[in-house]
Amino acid sequence: MTRGLVVGNWKMNLDHVEAVHLTQQLVSVLASRPAEHVEVAVAPPFVDLRSVTSVIEAERSAITVVAQHVSDHEHGAFTGEVSVAMLKRLGITGVLVGHSERRSLFHMDDAVVATTMRAVRRGGLRAIVCVGERLETRESGGERAFVRAQLATALDGLADEGEDGVAIAYEPVWAIGTGRTPTTEQVSDMAGEIREEAARWGFASARVLYGGSVNADNAAVIAIEAGVDGFLVGGASLKAESFGAIVGACNDCYAERR
Ligand code: PEP
Repeated sequence: MTRGLVVGNWKMNLDHVEAVHLTQQLVSVLASRPAEHVEVAVAPPFVDLRSVTSVIEAERSAITVVAQHVSDHEHGAFTGEVSVAMLKRLGITGVLVGHSERRSLFHMDDAVVATTMRAVRRGGLRAIVCVGERLETRESGGERAFVRAQLATALDGLADEGEDGVAIAYEPVWAIGTGRTPTTEQVSDMAGEIREEAARWGFASARVLYGGSVNADNAAVIAIEAGVDGFLVGGASLKAESFGAIVGACNDCYAERR
């Protein structure tokens, strides 16, 4: 059985000195509470990646490091962008693709999500593709079709690159950073839709994560009742204690499922 996956998205927080500090704290929290059923990953800002991987290597920690974004181009005149090859050279193993903040603030539409997914998978990195509806879409009852369409565009034609390298994060836009979470039934329903849609494109065993205001208090209930395979965590990943507690909740849930 595969392990759960908990990813901490640090967003545009922590300079490289602060990032080293948090990584050291996280290594020690995870060493004191081993979570053998969960893979733990962090997604620091680009400028922190090397420092964070250095700490992890030096500590021989199993934490993996993913980037928050990557260009869909291989190289060239794309000022401000970073390529898949550059990330691989740094020892980065995966990338978040299509986070809602990239979609809403940086014009990353479904077509760019799709080309980025191809660049990531063909380049040999793992992708954590983010999908999720806005509040108005949920209120109008269109959330299932919306998320399925996002996923179809992202996964179409990718199966040849291998099924293992894709995880899917369901992040309703209205739950990100708001303190508001869907009911566990809503998460569970959407996880079912996502699994069905993913299977249509050759990703039947992709891990489905939930993201949106997950914290140390609600993680256990969501993990157990919604039946997701882990979490994508924003705010609560900036403190080693709260992130460690979320990892622990996911680990307990996976241990039960075995
Ligand atoms: C996120 O940024 O992916 C996220 C889920 O943020 P938060 O946990 O802060 O809602």
